[in-house]
Amino acid sequence: MEFKKNDLLTVTIEDMGHDGEGIGKYEGYTAFVKDAVIGDTVRVKLMKTRKNYGYGRLMEVLAPSPDRVEPPCAFARPCGGCQLQALSYEKQLEYKARKIRNNLKRIGGFSDAEIPMEPVIGMKHPLGYRNKAQFPVGTDREGHLVTGFYAGRTHSIIPNRKCLLGVPVNETILDTVLDFMEEYGVTAYQEDTGRGLVRHVLIRYGFRTGEVMVCLVVNGTKIPRQEELVRRLAQIEGMTSITLNVNRERTNVILGKEIRVLWGQGYITDFIGEIRYQISPLSFFQVNPVQTEKLYGKALEFAGLTGNETVWDLYCGIGTISLFLAQKAGKVYGVEIVPDAIADARKNAEINGIGNAEFFVGRAEDVLPEKYAREGIHADVIVVDPPRKGCEESVLDTMVKMGPERIVYVSCDSATLARDLKYLRERGYEVKKVQGVDMFPETVHVETVVLLSKGEIDSKKVRVEFSLEEMDMSGFQKGATYEQIKAYVLKHTGLKVSSLYISQVKRKCGLDVGQNYNLSKKEDAKVPQCPPEKEAAIMDALKHFQMLE
Ligand code: SAH
Repeated sequence: MEFKKNDLLTVTIEDMGHDGEGIGKYEGYTAFVKDAVIGDTVRVKLMKTRKNYGYGRLMEVLAPSPDRVEPPCAFARPCGGCQLQALSYEKQLEYKARKIRNNLKRIGGFSDAEIPMEPVIGMKHPLGYRNKAQFPVGTDREGHLVTGFYAGRTHSIIPNRKCLLGVPVNETILDTVLDFMEEYGVTAYQEDTGRGLVRHVLIRYGFRTGEVMVCLVVNGTKIPRQEELVRRLAQIEGMTSITLNVNRERTNVILGKEIRVLWGQGYITDFIGEIRYQISPLSFFQVNPVQTEKLYGKALEFAGLTGNETVWDLYCGIGTISLFLAQKAGKVYGVEIVPDAIADARKNAEINGIGNAEFFVGRAEDVLPEKYAREGIHADVIVVDPPRKGCEESVLDTMVKMGPERIVYVSCDSATLARDLKYLRERGYEVKKVQGVDMFPETVHVETVVLLSKGEIDSKKVRVEFSLEEMDMSGFQKGATYEQIKAYVLKHTGLKVSSLYISQVKRKCGLDVGQNYNLSKKEDAKVPQCPPEKEAAIMDALKHFQMLE
């Protein structure tokens, strides 16, 4: 059947898509319906049509789904922040598990049996969880100042100072700022003309410390009578940091680069587990501290650390995961592209007295291959937590070459996760555990943490394009690299062995040794000989890596 714009139809919602939209069928025609939940029978008006499918507006719920609930927020439908408020929390978690599973199947090519997934870890109280909010300030048609959230896919502000995902202090701060602006005639920024002063109010709250940060984003360098505003804000309980962010660009990027401290300090602190973090207005910090602790706890569990391991944490931000892991690792190396974040990471290591974490600024895809090629760096475990677009292929390639026992992949987008897992699986890594964590209740987003481990390497499984010339295949064909053998020996016996000793033992066992270790000319010169104790340890490692029977 074909339909056209404004046609009305009745459908039963059978599924929900990636953006939370209900999906229903009418005689082979598929309708996507925002705000309808799985199990609803709804009356829909088609707004946009294609041959076999169309996008409809929910006109009426004819028979509500047993899983439909009254959205806790009055603005749930127009607001662009939440998509799943009309679905019971239990079903939200099931929806997220399905989303992960479907991506792993469709994009990753995994079968159900190959996805060892536990139920998504949810929250006891799935509201009031955000430690950060950015409220745009604007003017309504009558000329009154307003603040709230953008309506879905637009930049028109829905006035609401009481977002239920946020903390109560948000409303007190917004009332203080807007009352002050009304009183002193301070203007709101207008996106269309680029005029007006106050653009956004950014608020951060430390759940464990109770510290409050307000950052006023302005199209200028100061606010008229700002000392009065600061005086009022400073009276709010927990106030720790009041800053001004200068953003004079005609852009919808919220924050500018410059921060001026108006009162108190330029940052707040908060804890995740036992680790204390300094957080400045520009830093990335997970927004749901309660669930972050569970997420990092899983990452730590999956990393399987015993105290000696060398761990790489790629895309490390302000070192949150790195420092969490450093508590149980021998050494942690973090890599991150934003220099300020690395400065924070170093400071965070210092304030927690953590001496076994080191940080590098740069793109993961540059830093890791370079360190590997130049220094032959080693990793027992690699943790990655990339942005939505996932990992660059060069990062994945280097990871495979480094051959860590375990890879822990933390992902905020299960589609790119699935793509990357497929790549790693084709190169010998097995997916051992998949765990969703609900960091963003009421929304369609879900965080996933996956444990991969180096399986029995079968070189036939390694794809042909994984060419011998380009790559160090020692991890696959000839067993382990010298670095891996050294690390294995150190871990299991506490002995340090040199490449020379390894080459001597390998030769003794009839194994191929590289050019550099072919010492035949100097055979009778005074070359140190591997002591028996170390020889035994190296033999064990060679057996472990299946280089010896
Ligand atoms: N692991 C951190 C941050 C994760 S967010 C935490 O849990 O808090 C992803 C981080 O990757 C951001 O800090 C971003 O700045 C950084 N990033 C983005 N592209 C990158 C790249 N190509 N190389 C290294 N880091 C990158």
